[in-house]
Amino acid sequence: MAAATEKKPAGSAKIRYYRKRVRLFNLIDKIKLWPSRTGQLHGIRTITVTGDMATLTTHCNKQFVIRNSLNSRAARWLRNKWAVTVCPECRVPAWKLEKYAATRFKRHHGSMLENDTRHPGP
Ligand SMILES: [Zn+2]
Repeated sequence: MAAATEKKPAGSAKIRYYRKRVRLFNLIDKIKLWPSRTGQLHGIRTITVTGDMATLTTHCNKQFVIRNSLNSRAARWLRNKWAVTVCPECRVPAWKLEKYAATRFKRHHGSMLENDTRHPGP
């Protein structure tokens, strides 16, 4: 419900392409969104990866333990954008949703995000 005007350059939601087979951990580390089973998108606060498992903590303080599967429910939900609502407690900012909405998943085109997990950025 923030009424503040956003100063964003035009075209900020430029379309970006990721591979369909991008690893789930890399993807969620990038977009910082998690679809729950009820179709709600949560904002991810932290991801702790332990081998092939990861523990997510959302901004509404829910925890999810997930596997790094390519074909998990969540991976499909994210690729197909099936999540229908946004968690009101997570307060996912609009720019993040726009960025996600502008993300396309292609089989033969786009980043695998393999070398992009070292630093979350400023
Ligand atoms: Zn939430």
